[in-house]
Amino acid sequence: MSDLARKTENPIRSIWEGCKSTPNPSKKLITLQIGDPTIFKNFLAAPEAKVALRKALDHDNFSYMSCAGLETSREAVAEYVNKNYKGLTTQDFQPITFNDVILTSGCSMALEMCFRVLANPGDNILFPKPCMGYSTWIVGCGVEARYFNLDPNKEWEVDLEHLESMINDKTKAILINNPGNPCGNVYSKEHLLNILNVAERHKIPIIADEIYEFFTFPGVQFYPLAALSKNVPILTCSGITKRFIMPASRMGWIIINDRNHLLDSVRKGLFNLAGRNFVPNSTLTRALPEILRDTPQKFFDDNSKALFNHSLSAFSILKTCDGLTPIMPKGAMYLMVKIELEKFPNIKNCLEFSKILLSEQSVSVFPGFPCFNFPGFFRIVLTVPEELIIEACGRIKMFCEKHYKHDGDKYLKSG
Ligand SMILES: *Cc1c(COP(=O)(O)O)cnc(C)c1O
Repeated sequence: MSDLARKTENPIRSIWEGCKSTPNPSKKLITLQIGDPTIFKNFLAAPEAKVALRKALDHDNFSYMSCAGLETSREAVAEYVNKNYKGLTTQDFQPITFNDVILTSGCSMALEMCFRVLANPGDNILFPKPCMGYSTWIVGCGVEARYFNLDPNKEWEVDLEHLESMINDKTKAILINNPGNPCGNVYSKEHLLNILNVAERHKIPIIADEIYEFFTFPGVQFYPLAALSKNVPILTCSGITKRFIMPASRMGWIIINDRNHLLDSVRKGLFNLAGRNFVPNSTLTRALPEILRDTPQKFFDDNSKALFNHSLSAFSILKTCDGLTPIMPKGAMYLMVKIELEKFPNIKNCLEFSKILLSEQSVSVFPGFPCFNFPGFFRIVLTVPEELIIEACGRIKMFCEKHYKHDGDKYLKSG
């Protein structure tokens, strides 16, 4: 086995799936684990997207395309971005053109290409803590993942001082995930400007994982990092997998925002890397312009509203659970819950909390560690139908009632 294969590990897939724990056979399993909104069929792709795909299929002759994707489709992404960014940009923002767009196989591939194009073995990239398993893509290549803290008490804002302290001369990029997974954070304009300020002073480009762009709860404004940046080059990674509820479409993109030509060689490098795989799939590529143009705003609004309601339901139950503190998200489709582990004397850590919860209550959640490199928490997904979220949170409450030790109990025990 090659070094690359040996060192590549997806913390969610391998560590958690390898844990031997089975649901309680007398209770129906409710899974709050996987961030795929389609599983329960309550969130599905827009009918307009299916119409676009059927049409595209009829027109497709399945010939090879340019390796960055069909020009008209890249053009459509540029148009989609420019339209969405309207009113949110700095005065001198230059509209995106198709030349700035590379289509990829999902946001995952977009991210991997950005990591690959910026860092050599021995370099490092900075990631938020908590975050999803970005290290999967880099550790096998000899690139170091370094982590800066997000603060759960400040709506998951970046600890800017800590971020700055993690930068050294081998730091090639900072990754910012907004709206975020697993936290559901959506950053204010001011906070994003502060992050840009750090990057600018150290002359480090930012990889903006904005796969949940504009996927925020009602009344919460999302600001694209590239729309706010004056001087910091931003590689924005996104796609249709989450906001358009098409996870397995594997359609994503990179947008190169570099108005001062600081990353010309990186731009060239990204196109070189695109030549490795000729992605993505031709029918989806042909359907993309119509998917982007015809999916009605109502589709997005309805989904956001539903997810907001789910988050309120989950939050209102979880905040009454002994020993738990849920943190209300502002967007995306997840909610993080803090566990006061010292109040659960028979449970060592959040991984064990998750395993015992599954075996007793048949509710599966992802533990903050190892899944998101953040011990003491667990994450639930909000895309599950509301009645199941309510049922699952009720079971979590029973679980906590059983295992929580009140101070008085300890006193009794020791006395
Ligand atoms: C799901 C997810 C991705 C990957 O998206 P795909 O388009 O399915 O590859 C990237 N970043 C975050 C934060 C995600 O939650």
